[in-house]
Amino acid sequence: MIDAFVMVRERMVQEQLLARGITDQGVLRTMAEVPRHLFVDDAMQARAYGDHPLPIAADQTISQPYIVAAMTQALHLQGHEKVLEIGTGSGYQAAVLSRLCERVYTVERINGLLAGARKVFDQLHYYNILSRLDDGTMGWEEHAPFDAIIVTAGGPSVPESLVRQLADSGRMVIPVGEREVQQLQLVSRHDGEIQIEHLENVRFVSLIGEQGWDESRVV
Ligand code: SAH
Repeated sequence: MIDAFVMVRERMVQEQLLARGITDQGVLRTMAEVPRHLFVDDAMQARAYGDHPLPIAADQTISQPYIVAAMTQALHLQGHEKVLEIGTGSGYQAAVLSRLCERVYTVERINGLLAGARKVFDQLHYYNILSRLDDGTMGWEEHAPFDAIIVTAGGPSVPESLVRQLADSGRMVIPVGEREVQQLQLVSRHDGEIQIEHLENVRFVSLIGEQGWDESRVV
């Protein structure tokens, strides 16, 4: 997509992704293309490609570009997958995924955020993203199983519903830990057996819901 930020995006890919070991060509190409600035407030567009997360509405955040790249790369997408995302937020992560798989199913619990993300998906003609307002810790049963699952909010544990909705040979990436700091975990299923690999430490907003944190404690 040609816009005023083409060069800035290219620099983001070189300095923040390639330099830190992101090697998946699809991820690098996609993040050089998806207009991240459209997923933040107009007033923040100039900072959209900086090496940090940014605030979005409802006290939530759009993840740092490197984290989006690392989590997407961990899913090893080939192009044919059905991917479930929990925590649509700005919609940026879903947008990146949608260029790398068959279809994205994304769930968000805050209506205002979901509406904003949908608007940008339409504007960009990203038609292979299905979204819904719900508690994503319960997954999206109707479309299960998913070849890949990505959770972009941090919970106390891996929600059982999500493990159940992961296809065989599927991969799930999810931050698990305390309210303030978590560890990225890669959950994979092979012949029904679940394996968990620990990746880097991260800071995500809270995963709130039936199989997440209690809504009443706000950080
Ligand atoms: N992937 C997003 C990151 C948004 S921050 C992006 O690219 O911008 C995490 C989001 O998870 C927030 O919008 C928050 O409202 C949402 N969230 C938290 N708990 C949730 C739950 N149980 N179900 C669905 N969304 C949830």
